[in-house]
Amino acid sequence: MEKSYLIVDKFGGSSVASSTQFKKVKDIVLSKKNRQVVIVSALGKRNKEDNKITDLLYLLHAHLKYSVAYDNIFNLVRDRYVSLRDELGITYKIEDDFDSLYKELNKNINPDYLVSRGEYFCAKLMAAYLDFDFLDAKDLIKFDYNGKINEEATDAAIKKAYAENKKGYFVIPGFYGSYPNGDVHLLSRGGSDITGSIVAKALNASVYENWTDVSGILMADPRIIENPKRINEITYDELRELSYMGANVLHEETIFPVQELNIPINILNTNDPTNPGTIIREKCDDVSQVITGISGLKDFASITVTKEFNANKTALIGDVLAIFKKYNIVVEHIPSSIDSFSIIVSRVKVEKYLYDIISDIKALADVKEVSIDKDIALVAVVGRNMVTRVGISGKIFGYLGEEGINIKMISQGSHEIAIIFGISNNDFEKTLKVLYRKLVK
Ligand code: ASP
Repeated sequence: MEKSYLIVDKFGGSSVASSTQFKKVKDIVLSKKNRQVVIVSALGKRNKEDNKITDLLYLLHAHLKYSVAYDNIFNLVRDRYVSLRDELGITYKIEDDFDSLYKELNKNINPDYLVSRGEYFCAKLMAAYLDFDFLDAKDLIKFDYNGKINEEATDAAIKKAYAENKKGYFVIPGFYGSYPNGDVHLLSRGGSDITGSIVAKALNASVYENWTDVSGILMADPRIIENPKRINEITYDELRELSYMGANVLHEETIFPVQELNIPINILNTNDPTNPGTIIREKCDDVSQVITGISGLKDFASITVTKEFNANKTALIGDVLAIFKKYNIVVEHIPSSIDSFSIIVSRVKVEKYLYDIISDIKALADVKEVSIDKDIALVAVVGRNMVTRVGISGKIFGYLGEEGINIKMISQGSHEIAIIFGISNNDFEKTLKVLYRKLVK
């Protein structure tokens, strides 16, 4: 497809939560004529006490399934859309859509179909409000029966719909698609981000703008670091490292479709649209900046295995990993020394099977000793070229030493973009603060 300047925009739940938010969206979309394709989530919360429509629809389904009276909750959902329509001053008859949905309600209704109505109705209203066409995601996002997206069919369907659309401006509901028989199937929670990315890829968009309620991605968790700086630019891989270790901005699968074509993602704030936000792309121009961000997670456990004197360590690691696989526990890191190695896993996930796992490990012929440390927090310092720059890890560990923070394990990410280390849960906040102050400020 020839590359003309085309922008795909996705607006999350908080950006479409009320008529005030819809108005902001309209101003944003209409301010650039290349903003041609809009993907929306279902209505989010208007304030802390409010409900997300998606949650209400899941609840409605539970009521139907267990034969509990459901009119109240149905009307709660209906009223939000009807009053939104009224406040927007558009004439779209959303009541008709709700009347037909009401007739379809029954114990065996496809829950994915019911829940998808959150984005469907939102997209209907947004299309009417922007005077764009509405395209149903059911006809665009194609799943195979194994639940995986059929990329070829999806790509072709989106390209075709775009080519055939006369207006050239349209709104698509996020979060769902359909199986080959037409049954609606949902992506995982937060999946509208993925819809946006898939559409941006299929149309070879110039940029995928992802509108949220924060002005981009921050260098550290604002619940721990006061006023952390915004990241201007970050590579796809760095973002994956940061997200894996707790920084959650986008659905983790969002990156893959656009990464294939190197389409940048711009994270922007609907409530502060002139803020440039964060650009995520394959390569970043700014190489002067060493640290891109710091993130981390608490509550890991480390199971350390010491081998018998003349045993083969590599073979033993293989046997031990097979045990974790048997219990379906994802292994995060395997720091190792001459006679021992440690398996780092989520404490919550391993808890239930911990003693079974340990007795299985102890039963292996070459094991001398097994010990457990259930008090580990992991911290990732992420930055491009960081590991190749001499002295960064030295500095990091020096700073922590000065503060009396004990480092329990170290793992240098093999992509040279992350230094990951383990500390005690109690030292977590302090560690992030020290590193932010020394490395960023
Ligand atoms: N509305 C869905 C959710 O709450 C999908 C999304 O917003 O991306 O998970």
